[in-house]
Amino acid sequence: MTSRARTRNLAVSFAILALLAVSIVFTSSNARRAQRLARQQMEFVAAVSHELRTPLATIRTASDNLASGVIATPERVQEYGALLQSEGIRLSEMVEHVLEFARADATGTRELRLISVRDAIESAMRMSRFAIDRSAATVEVVIEENLPLVRGDVAGLARAVENLIGNAIKYSDGDPLVSIRASANDTNVTIEVEDRGRGIAPTDLPHIFEPFYRGAGIADAQIPGSGLGLAVVQRVVHAFGGEVDVLSALGRGSTFRITLPAVTR
Ligand code: ADP
Repeated sequence: MTSRARTRNLAVSFAILALLAVSIVFTSSNARRAQRLARQQMEFVAAVSHELRTPLATIRTASDNLASGVIATPERVQEYGALLQSEGIRLSEMVEHVLEFARADATGTRELRLISVRDAIESAMRMSRFAIDRSAATVEVVIEENLPLVRGDVAGLARAVENLIGNAIKYSDGDPLVSIRASANDTNVTIEVEDRGRGIAPTDLPHIFEPFYRGAGIADAQIPGSGLGLAVVQRVVHAFGGEVDVLSALGRGSTFRITLPAVTR
């Protein structure tokens, strides 16, 4: 065999070896990714089941007591009615959030279109009507004229803004005052939802976008919620190529800001 042929054979063998090595690395990293995804899914299902258990247990105990007639006075019956109502709301909110969380999976399955931020905010306002009326909140909306379009879906963005409005109301004591602003610069469209509510403790701030995280003392204060709302908002906004962040001062209020890449002017 000539030395040229030997060198060629050697090169081919090395190329095959390199190919094999690359495919081994690729397969094992894929397997690790699948394993990690499966573990995350299991953890998610376990966490959801755990979270659903608490309101369900309350509903069962309250309804057992009502059915067995141990709750005698009309006031107590009313109290139990209110408890069943609020736990019911909490359960449906949680189921909605879990569904939205699953839908908002940032894997690109969502169909993105060019959408108007104004449409999404107006839709969010319609969806928030009940919460606004119930809490007698004042909500100001200022949307800049001729905002550029962004990539996303109106329903998803509307639910994200609805979540922020819901929180702004929920975490304000007294008569909530909420302002919603939408504006743009050359590159981004920004939606801000500001409240003058209780604000967020610095120790909570790094965690509030984590699924199921609720601020310290929030559950004790009997403020209903699932801890999934902001995780949903973040997932949706990330799926649209945007970011969500927050500025907050304890006792003074919070401003949540969604930033989305502007597509047209
Ligand atoms: P939930 O409201 O169901 O607890 P979220 O994911 O929407 O869950 O919010 C996570 C946590 O972030 C809340 O438990 C609360 O501590 C804090 N938070 C969210 N929005 C606000 C707000 N506007 N004002 C004060 N705290 C807030």
